[in-house]
Amino acid sequence: MTDAEEQSIRLLATGLSQARRAVAFTGAGISTESGIPDFRSPGGVWSRHAPVLYDDFLNDAAERRRYWQIRKETIPGFLAARPNAGHLALARLEAAGRLRAVITQNIDELHQRAGSRRVLELHGTAMQVQCLECDRRYTCEEVQARLEAGEQEPVCASCGGILKSMTVSFGQPLPPGVWMEAFQEARGSDLFLVLGSSLLVQPAASLPETAVRHGARLFIVNRDPTPLDALADGVVRAAIGPTMEATMKALGEIGSVL
Ligand code: NAD
Repeated sequence: MTDAEEQSIRLLATGLSQARRAVAFTGAGISTESGIPDFRSPGGVWSRHAPVLYDDFLNDAAERRRYWQIRKETIPGFLAARPNAGHLALARLEAAGRLRAVITQNIDELHQRAGSRRVLELHGTAMQVQCLECDRRYTCEEVQARLEAGEQEPVCASCGGILKSMTVSFGQPLPPGVWMEAFQEARGSDLFLVLGSSLLVQPAASLPETAVRHGARLFIVNRDPTPLDALADGVVRAAIGPTMEATMKALGEIGSVL
């Protein structure tokens, strides 16, 4: 870690100790240390599969089969994953009253499993499946067992309707209630901490800009540069787990109650 990054970690710890309305915003990068690949890094999901667009999913059985094939390959990794130091640090900060909310682009529920309580899932969750006709819900394990037993396009056991994971697909709008809450959290925040997002996906990436426009200090922890680095008060281009462990240690050293 460079001197500038160590300085950014100390600034972040001081900022968190002083903030009254700190909010975290996480992307796929916070879960790579739990073994779930992100989208854009080499070997990530996009380098192997083009995403299935929402309209194609609804209208084309071949695309639905491709969707379930991708899911059949990716879900075992989600089920095996455990929260890492980054997720755990955010849960501890919230429990200590130092973090108001986690806004996440992730669909793996690792924040909830780490103990975070206020989690705003912009892209829904992959850990549940829903019937688009009658709304019956299935656990991801139930549907995975059906896929592994050879079903190529599982349908609802009650009504025969199309099943889909409760994620937001490309071409599908964000859930408006969750988006409004996330927007309000960003606008009301005094410290906005981005962890593991390339900040390339809109409209989610507009949240840090909104926070800064309304006076928040911005910190970005991401291995690669992002388009918003120049706006930030501190940038750490290093792994999230060790960075958050160092931040928690620094918070302890400045006497902040955790
Ligand atoms: P992204 O793949 O576009 O960007 C991830 C960023 O994290 C990259 O810039 C990378 O440099 C950084 N990164 C990866 N591992 C890191 C680490 N250990 N420490 C520090 N930085 C690290 O991800 P995104 O911005 O979240 O957008 C892609 C979309 O992918 C999201 O909308 C999300 O819904 C979906 N997605 C979710 C998961 C998940 O739930 N875990 C996994 C893959 C994709």
